[in-house]
Amino acid sequence: MAATIEIIQADITTLAVDAIVNAANNTLLGGGGVDGAIHRVAGPQLVQECAGLGGCETGDAKITKGYKLPARHVIHTVGPVWQGGGKGEPGLLESAYRRCFEVAHGHGLKSIAFPAISAGVYSYPMREAAVIALSAAQEAMVSYPELERVVFVQFNAPAQQVYREAAERLGIKAH
Ligand code: ADP
Repeated sequence: MAATIEIIQADITTLAVDAIVNAANNTLLGGGGVDGAIHRVAGPQLVQECAGLGGCETGDAKITKGYKLPARHVIHTVGPVWQGGGKGEPGLLESAYRRCFEVAHGHGLKSIAFPAISAGVYSYPMREAAVIALSAAQEAMVSYPELERVVFVQFNAPAQQVYREAAERLGIKAH
């Protein structure tokens, strides 16, 4: 069965998927934005497990359990801070998405939901970030036939529209 790409407006902490992705920071010990929301819902056991992971390099990803979240796992990744685009940010953001899919594949996961990594406090332009996110999903669906659902979650309607337009430009059929 071919995987579906979904572009939805939601709070990622409400989704019952195999894994939700956390846009974390290098410490993996929690922060603001989507990171804070995920830790609040998952409960204190999540930060306890994260504390044993030794942090995470920018562009890498590490997996934990989901604890009180409806999602079974959390894949914590660290996207780049936008510094104008000349500091390797596109490559690092691509790497963050690629590593999330590799880790998901390593655990046999079939459904994964992503926030707009780096496009909040880290200031990555949403339009460019959406193209990288969707392209990574397209590649992963070819490499990992077990994938059934890749969900891109936006917090608001304008961001969702940016993703829809990016999908159209890339010729990706999104639900
Ligand atoms: P980063 O530090 O990587 O930029 P942020 O958490 O600041 O990460 O923002 C990433 C994106 O996640 C932003 O577009 C923000 O609006 C969105 N976001 C924040 N909270 C949630 C949530 N609960 N569910 C889905 N998306 C969220």
